[in-house]
Amino acid sequence: MNNNKLRLLSYVIIVYMLLAFAWWTILLNNKNEDAFTAKKELLRIVLIADNQYEDERSFLQHPSYLNLKQRYERRQLMIFGESLVFVISLFIGFWFINKGYRDIIKNSKTKTNFLLSISHELKSPVASVKLALETIIKRKLSSEQLLKVSSGALAENTRLGSLIENLLLATKLEDPYEIKIEEINLCELIQPMINNELLKYPEAQIVFQIEEGANIVKSDRFALQTIFSNLLENALKYSPTIKEVNMKIETSGLDIIIAVADKGIGIPDEEKTKIFEKFYRLGAEITRATKGTGLGLFIISKMVTALEGNIRVEDNDPEGSVFIVHLKDHLN
Ligand code: ADP
Repeated sequence: MNNNKLRLLSYVIIVYMLLAFAWWTILLNNKNEDAFTAKKELLRIVLIADNQYEDERSFLQHPSYLNLKQRYERRQLMIFGESLVFVISLFIGFWFINKGYRDIIKNSKTKTNFLLSISHELKSPVASVKLALETIIKRKLSSEQLLKVSSGALAENTRLGSLIENLLLATKLEDPYEIKIEEINLCELIQPMINNELLKYPEAQIVFQIEEGANIVKSDRFALQTIFSNLLENALKYSPTIKEVNMKIETSGLDIIIAVADKGIGIPDEEKTKIFEKFYRLGAEITRATKGTGLGLFIISKMVTALEGNIRVEDNDPEGSVFIVHLKDHLN
């Protein structure tokens, strides 16, 4: 039986349970009412026999009748109260089952997504390196060609290495990341990353602004490196036409504020929180066409949490995205 049929069957069972319960509630209530009427009439007969019955008005004020009526009302309240609790419990149970079902579907989609991208990401550099080595062995290459082919293979190898590192890091980050605080010069940390990206994307324009006095911070070097390099790489990767990235660092009180803005494809509102989940990649064709595993932002968010900060993404004006990170400066 497929998932939709199972779902339909569970809906039918729930509706049947609700109808059956409503029917039993009404039946029980009718029985309670019948019992009350019978007891009331019995009481009237007893009072008549005892010569205590005067008229209907005084009968309705008689302590024995009032006692009977109170018990009848209490039972009625109990019947409807229990029904309500049952219906609420049923709905809560149903909500949990439904949530579990949705989580399973989501996990399996995420896993499929992951397997699709990971297999491609693993296979393509291995194939490129193989092709490069075969070319070197089979053909007589000039030193210039040899340099080109081997540099390409080296770049693919580096990419494979960082992919494996990211996978291991993401697995490790299932446990909280342990930070090591040290003094860091942000310009010295970031400038080499920018130079590196400019080698990869020579057409890119990267503007780096840092507020005066914000250069020296106390934080975790590896975490900051991971955060900056991933945000910068993503900003360029997801800007297929205008590769203009603006990286700004400011301080506010005890916070370091980092903003990385691009003019790329942007992120729809409904995806803005999901992109921080493990293996999550946007379904758009352009994302599929770019290389990635959906691990970068997950790793960043774990590190940001470890540094007692937060990360969010907003729309850039007029297009693209801005990733804003607030981190605690551990200077004090
Ligand atoms: P990866 O880039 O390897 O897919 P990330 O975790 O770094 O994984 O990003 C998750 C997803 O968020 C990406 O697949 C992409 O769809 C989206 N994304 C991240 N950064 C940007 C950006 N600057 N502009 C548009 N989309 C982005």
